[in-house]
Amino acid sequence: MRNVVLLGPPGAGKGTIAVRVAEELNLFHLSTGDVLREEVARGTELGKEARGFMDRGELVPDEVVLAMVRERVRGRGGVLLDGFPRTLAQADGLAKFLPVHVVVYLAVGKDEVVRRLGSRRVCASCGAVYNLVTQRPRTPGRCDRCGGELRQRPDDAPEVVAHRYEVYERESRPLIEHYARQGLLVSVDAARPPEAVVADVIRVLRS
Ligand code: ADP
Ligand code: AMP
Repeated sequence: MRNVVLLGPPGAGKGTIAVRVAEELNLFHLSTGDVLREEVARGTELGKEARGFMDRGELVPDEVVLAMVRERVRGRGGVLLDGFPRTLAQADGLAKFLPVHVVVYLAVGKDEVVRRLGSRRVCASCGAVYNLVTQRPRTPGRCDRCGGELRQRPDDAPEVVAHRYEVYERESRPLIEHYARQGLLVSVDAARPPEAVVADVIRVLRS
């Protein structure tokens, strides 16, 4: 089974799209952001190490994230990576333990992602993602899936979002060129409703 990387700026819709694509194509969805938030919530050593970086909108150190991913993909194929790799060093590290077959870049501009992150809400219990404007829950403030409370992520505060976008530009954007040079990159217009984006990504991955 092919391994897929989903690239794109914070707020591009990687998590939203990945959940639906993974279910449809039976892929193993691995979001490094979700794993790190779980570790923080459980108060593990890894969580304690990662928390400060995450709250400031910085990247968690490459070795930490690489070890975390390596352990979770061991022996697997058909992995859908969401939010990883985020640096060239992570891409090089990944190549040593998992072949990447296709990279889907969710293309969307800065103004739109900043707007989306300002109105993002996540379920405190199950992590499901909503948006006050574009993906509203059926009951305000409550998760459709599990009834949990919807909250704003601490790193979705406007000043942290601005910093995360700068970090994306500096550290992660070069991955687009990196994977394009390897002939692996497919770009999808992600400035459209999720259903349209999901349909395109599925079409790309089936072809
Ligand atoms: P990422 O994982 O790339 O940071 P998310 O999947 O969390 O992005 O999406 C960011 C926010 O934008 C969420 O509030 C989500 O509900 C919303 N969203 C995701 N995809 C779209 C889309 N195609 N159009 C409008 N809003 C979207
Ligand atoms: P995300 O949920 O993808 O928006 O990630 C939230 C935060 O987790 C990021 O701002 C980073 O602090 C951290 N993080 C997630 N994935 C990575 C990664 N691949 N490398 C470094 N830090 C990461």
